[in-house]
Amino acid sequence: GDRHILNGAKRFITNGGIAGVYMIGAKTIDDDPARGISTFLVEPGWKGFSVGKAEDKLGLRGSHTTELFFDDVAIPAGNLLGEEGRGFEQIMLAIESGRIGIGAMAVGLAQAALEISMAYAYRDRAFANRQATQWRLADMATEIEAARLLIQKAAWQKDQGRPFRKAASMGKLFASEMSNRVTASALDIFSAEGGMEPVPVGRYIRDARLTEIGEGTSEVQRIIIAKELMKEADKMAELPGDRLLSVTMG
Ligand SMILES: Cc1cc2nc3c(=O)[nH]c(=O)nc-3n(C[C@H](O)[C@H](O)[C@H](O)COP(=O)(O)OP(=O)(O)OC[C@H]3O[C@@H](n4cnc5c(N)ncnc54)[C@H](O)[C@@H]3O)c2cc1C
Repeated sequence: GDRHILNGAKRFITNGGIAGVYMIGAKTIDDDPARGISTFLVEPGWKGFSVGKAEDKLGLRGSHTTELFFDDVAIPAGNLLGEEGRGFEQIMLAIESGRIGIGAMAVGLAQAALEISMAYAYRDRAFANRQATQWRLADMATEIEAARLLIQKAAWQKDQGRPFRKAASMGKLFASEMSNRVTASALDIFSAEGGMEPVPVGRYIRDARLTEIGEGTSEVQRIIIAKELMKEADKMAELPGDRLLSVTMG
């Protein structure tokens, strides 16, 4: 017909209640699990569309997160985004880009944790010259640099119009897990002082923890990377035997 009727709810929505437009994936074709989802643009204020209270989150408390509710919301046909049944691909593409963003967030907060750790350690030469402090700072800086390069590579591939699914998942996986190690090291350097307000180490630790969850957990990133590797292995298997051997044996 000339409209779709939307029913359901979705939790953990960033900028819920703030966004000027919402991109909603909903099932429109019941008997087709692969192509059954379509994407719609839903606007605030529409009848039947409501927003839950702001969540009291562990971390990333500077961003607003709510549940969304849809009760017989009438969506005009013109608000279907692209073709019906293409929603899964559209949402995956948006999430792949989002992973670069979460990875960059993890790099940024780890960098902030490193910088305050350096400032704290170098106030006291004897403390800064301790090997335990030096090794911590060196490892923190090295891991941050590695994560930054992975994220920059994923962003570059996207900018170039090249496939970037594996690069985005690798960058997000490594950067988010790295930010947990680096912020934990910042607490080791500050020790008790780092567990007290207003020192922001606790905030960085809580923020880092959630970068491992948003836009897909670490387990999900590993599944995606492994699937991409399997596709590469299938391509290798198409090569003639001697070439395959030289690829697999180095
Ligand atoms: C700060 C924040 C903002 C968010 N913003 C949004 C948003 O704007 N829009 C939105 O739609 N969502 C948003 N989310 C939701 C987020 O995408 C999900 O929380 C995340 O993808 C994990 O899903 P889940 O919480 O349902 O965990 P579940 O899927 O229930 O997973 C539970 C556990 O099982 C593991 N697991 C699940 N499946 C597998 C598997 N196949 N193999 C192995 N392990 C598995 C997971 O890794 C996890 O450890 C946000 C979340 C956070 C924390």
